[in-house]
Amino acid sequence: MVKAIVGANWGDEGKGKITDMLAQDSDIIVRFQGGANAGHTIINNYGKFALHTLPSGVFYDHTTSIIGNGVALNIPVLFNEIKEIVDKGVPAPKILVSDRAQMVMPYHILFDQYEEERLGGKSFGSTKSGIAPFYSDKYAKIGFQVSELFMEEKELKEKLERVLAQKNVLLEHLYHKPLMDVDDIYNTLMEYKEMVEPYVCNVSAYLDKAIKEGKNFLLEGQLGTLKDPDHGIYPMVTSSSTLAAYGAIGAGIPPYSIEKVITVCKAYSSAVGAGAFVSEIFGDEAQEMRVRGGDGGEFGATTGRPRRMGWFDCVASRYGCRLQGTTDVAFTVVDVLGYLDEIPVCVGYEIDGEVTTEFPVTHQLEKAKPVLEVLPGWKCDIRGIKKYEELPENCRNYIEFIEKHIGYPITMVSNGPGREDIIYRNI
Ligand code: GDP
Repeated sequence: MVKAIVGANWGDEGKGKITDMLAQDSDIIVRFQGGANAGHTIINNYGKFALHTLPSGVFYDHTTSIIGNGVALNIPVLFNEIKEIVDKGVPAPKILVSDRAQMVMPYHILFDQYEEERLGGKSFGSTKSGIAPFYSDKYAKIGFQVSELFMEEKELKEKLERVLAQKNVLLEHLYHKPLMDVDDIYNTLMEYKEMVEPYVCNVSAYLDKAIKEGKNFLLEGQLGTLKDPDHGIYPMVTSSSTLAAYGAIGAGIPPYSIEKVITVCKAYSSAVGAGAFVSEIFGDEAQEMRVRGGDGGEFGATTGRPRRMGWFDCVASRYGCRLQGTTDVAFTVVDVLGYLDEIPVCVGYEIDGEVTTEFPVTHQLEKAKPVLEVLPGWKCDIRGIKKYEELPENCRNYIEFIEKHIGYPITMVSNGPGREDIIYRNI
């Protein structure tokens, strides 16, 4: 069976933890989009890890971890991540990299930085990992697939010459930065080739066989619905689709093979980067939640920057779950809210004096004000609880209130960062 694990919101919902947990019963875990711009934090018996490129199943010796063709592959980051986990005592994971995955080129990272510098106060708040320039080049058809590392030198250099001619015009006239040289980039690519060669595979053929053999796999998404370039808060979005539907494309499998879509929703909201965030809170109230949030605070796994914080947003989450095609909701980080006397929840948006529960397009979203309903808190620590009925009544009421508003079944409640901190609900 193929299951997708995706986010309903702005990312950082705890997909890594849910993937790591479900990987126990899986054979294959595939990353299908995004790059090293976001990270998953995983805590298990080997320690605490921030993964940016490797799928969250690398800690088991029975799983194969796959970088699908839809990923923006930064080869040195992948290589260093493998080294880091092996150095910390994790058995060398079995990793396959799609020969059709495209590579983040050294200049993609530079162009990301230069463009953010150029935009100044109007910047997107990019993590400067080269993801937007990477996907722009992919769709402008001047990207490089992993398979191209194995072409004849002459052919590869000819392509580099064509691509760099265009890049150098921008470097010279738009950014006023040093120009690039074909031989330098070629030599870097040959280093990449050496790093990636042991892992390169025809991934879609491999997965086709695995589906026929009845293997269990997880498709692990990065970020969440609201960062999807089509359905999110464009233009403050990421550059590849964050939706489960894209899992089929980014892994190279049939769309109908995805039988379950587990959408991860966090019990409060957080977001990084610029863009409208209707239920956002500020000041001390936000700081308290930020410091208590997640495991060790709500700070970016890649950048360390403080995340923006807010109350749970039913409008955004219902929309987020709908676009994912949710079969199950995993509701995470519920334990963190145990300090609050009362918990506001955003149940509607007021736009130009009218209340709506439909998530609007971006220019309307910017005008939206939250309609809040306040629920009583449960004022205790719920970590360690294993049965749903043993949760405090106010905590169950909070979960069921949200379930009713988003309209999708919450079948898992996560009450701590560890693999075992999970409550299954039969509904
Ligand atoms: P992802 O990108 O969706 O995987 O999310 P992140 O890894 O950026 O953020 C989730 C953070 O919350 C990580 O630090 C997790 O260890 C932590 N986490 C996940 N589930 C829970 C939970 O139920 N309770 C607590 N306290 N932390 C959690």
